[in-house]
Amino acid sequence: MDIKTILNEIKAELPERTRLVAVSKFHPAEAIKEAYDAGQRIFGESKVQELENKYNTLPKDIEWHFIGHLQTNKVKYIAPYISMIHAVDSFKLLTEINKQAAKAGRTIPCLLEIHIAQEETKFGFSPEECVEMLEKENWKELKNISISGIMGMATNTDDETEIEKEFSTLETFFHELKSRFFADDERFKELSMGMSEDYHLAIKHGSTFVRIGSKIFGIRNY
Ligand SMILES: *Cc1c(COP(=O)(O)O)cnc(C)c1O
Repeated sequence: MDIKTILNEIKAELPERTRLVAVSKFHPAEAIKEAYDAGQRIFGESKVQELENKYNTLPKDIEWHFIGHLQTNKVKYIAPYISMIHAVDSFKLLTEINKQAAKAGRTIPCLLEIHIAQEETKFGFSPEECVEMLEKENWKELKNISISGIMGMATNTDDETEIEKEFSTLETFFHELKSRFFADDERFKELSMGMSEDYHLAIKHGSTFVRIGSKIFGIRNY
């Protein structure tokens, strides 16, 4: 199937509240252009250098979302144009994004990455760490970022019960944070979860962004 057909199939499955981030990492600009010509505007990338190359060659009305682990020393390169940063996993990174966004005269929407999967990873806040950071309130002084929601990845498993349990945990946590810290902040509204193999389960649990790569663009070579 071609990219356009697959995109249309996926979009037909998404409820109104859910938007598609087409994850184009490791795929060439030509593949992105094909999706763009089919009407797709939001693309997800996970490496700064690769994103820079694509940003420079592709149409300027693309909304680029950074979905990977972002190093603080690379924030400055993407701050002038990035539409959303999905995987903020420390207060230090949030502070740096704020600084670079201020320099660029922008406010950058950020999602906090919450670690829900059973796999070990260095990245993401535990729910406890996330609450601890928000309780400190110094994030409220960061005027050039908005905390727009949370993001997570389920365990890479065939066990749908486990995956649903994790998405349900994230959904509950999202609502808890909303009522505790962001009840008056309408910008906090995004729940980014669901990938090629599990997005059907994610949309059942209120996902507002699904991040789908291989289903659209095929197997990545990396
Ligand atoms: C690569 C990646 C995706 C897309 O994964 P697919 O299985 O190819 O759909 C989604 N989210 C993140 C954070 C990724 O790194």
